[in-house]
This record gives sequence, C-alpha cells and structure tokens, in this order.
Amino acid sequence: MKIRAHEIPEEGKDYALRVKGKTANRYFSLLKNSDFQALTDVTGNVKVWEQDGMIIVEGDVRVDLRLTCGRCLSRFRYPVAQHFRSIYSPFYQTCQEEDLELKPYDMDVSIYNGEELDLDNVLYEQIFLGIPAQALCSPNCKGLCPVCGANLNEGLCHCEAPPAYSPFGVLKKLKLKG
Ligand SMILES: [Zn+2]
Ligand SMILES: [Zn+2]
Repeated sequence: MKIRAHEIPEEGKDYALRVKGKTANRYFSLLKNSDFQALTDVTGNVKVWEQDGMIIVEGDVRVDLRLTCGRCLSRFRYPVAQHFRSIYSPFYQTCQEEDLELKPYDMDVSIYNGEELDLDNVLYEQIFLGIPAQALCSPNCKGLCPVCGANLNEGLCHCEAPPAYSPFGVLKKLKLKG
C-alpha cells in the first residue's frame, strides 16, 4: 500500500496491512541470494506519522518464512515477528541539508522520494532484518557428515571421521577426491 506524505494527518494514522505470500515471494525472488520464501501472508500493524518532512513508521510485521539451515541444508519454518520503528527522510532534504543530524547512512534512517512511501516495501525491509545471519533449523543442529554428506540429525552414518561438524573433515574429503 502506497501512502502520500502530504496526506498523513497531523495526529498520524494507523494501517492494518496484509500482503499475499505470493506477492511477497515475487518480490523476494528478484533479490540476490534470497534463499527464503513466505509460507503465509505478510501482515503488519503500523502507525505512520510525519515530522519535518520525514515519515516515521512504527509497528509490527509478521510472516512465517521457509529458510534453509546453514548446517544441514534442510528447509524449516521460521516465524518472523518484528517490532520496528523506521524513519524515512525525503531524498531532497538529505541532499540539501548537509548538517542534518539524521544522515541517511545512520542505521535506522532510509530515504524515500519525498512524495510517497510504499508500506509493503517497509514490511519487506523489516522481514530481511528479521532473518538471522546464520539460520539454523535448531540450535543443536548436527549438520552434515563431512565425508558422506548424511544428515546427522537423522542418525549417525558409518564414516570413520568424527561426526562433529569440522572444517578438517571437508579437507579430508577434498584430498580423497584429488
Ligand atoms: Zn539443520
Ligand atoms: Zn558419513
């Protein structure tokens, strides 16, 4: 949903947002290295207000994602429930006011075109931030056997190598191959 900056009432406005999972996935698929998918619709409840030309969006976003485990490569369901507060500074203002205290490269200030802001994109952005850098199916995930590639969560394989996740196991495999 797009909102126009000059139409935001002074007291702010609440929005209940819902984006179809399919629509979100179409967006996610355009991104580089996006190895995740929405399993549910994306929902958001946000309050939007305007302050000195900046748009402030605060609220919650929820979606269940399907992620790939960084150790065993299995797919698992990961619920995202983020509370956030984002500040959008208009493009022209960030260009003109060099001394502006809030610079666009400050962590939580983004840029918008000064006219309208797409709240769906705000939600997508927050979903990315809600994905852990190394996603694991479980904190105790045993990973794959470095020799035979078996998923060690499903039981031990019969390799001689210690089943612990270790980079040396991978080296050993490479040597055997060479
Ligand atoms: Zn795993
Ligand atoms: Zn093995």
